[in-house]
Amino acid sequence: MDKIEHIGIAVKDLDAANEVYTKLFAEPPYKTEMVESEGVSTSFFKVGESKIELLEAIDPESAIAKFIEKKGEGIHHIAYAVADIKAEMERMRAEGFVVLNDEPKKGADNKLVCFLHPKSTNGVLIELCQEIS
Ligand code: ZN
Repeated sequence: MDKIEHIGIAVKDLDAANEVYTKLFAEPPYKTEMVESEGVSTSFFKVGESKIELLEAIDPESAIAKFIEKKGEGIHHIAYAVADIKAEMERMRAEGFVVLNDEPKKGADNKLVCFLHPKSTNGVLIELCQEIS
C-alpha cells in the first residue's frame, strides 16, 4: 500500500460540514461530487499528501444513511492507495479478509475502489483505491 489516500467522514449535512472543514483547513473543498451508485454526495479537502472525504447520504437506503442512523456522524472509513487494486483484492482474499466487492467499482474522485468488511479489520471499514489513469 502506498499511503493513506483519504479518511471518509459521514456527515448529516454536507453544506454545513463543508463550512466547518473550510474553516478548519482555511481552504474550500477542491471537489464535490455526487456518486449516484453509492447514494452519496461527497466533497474532498486536501491535507498535505492525504485528503478528507465528507459523505452525506442522498438515499435513505445507502450505507452512509444506515451508518449515521446506527452510530451518528463520524469517521466512516480509511482509504489506502494501491497501485494494482485487482492484485490487492486477490491478496486480501487469500489472507482471509472479507472483500465486499467481487470487482473494483468506480468510486468518487476518479478512483477504482473496493471495501474490506470491518469484521475482518478490527472494526474499521477499509477502502482500497487505485487512481484511474
Ligand atoms: Zn472513500
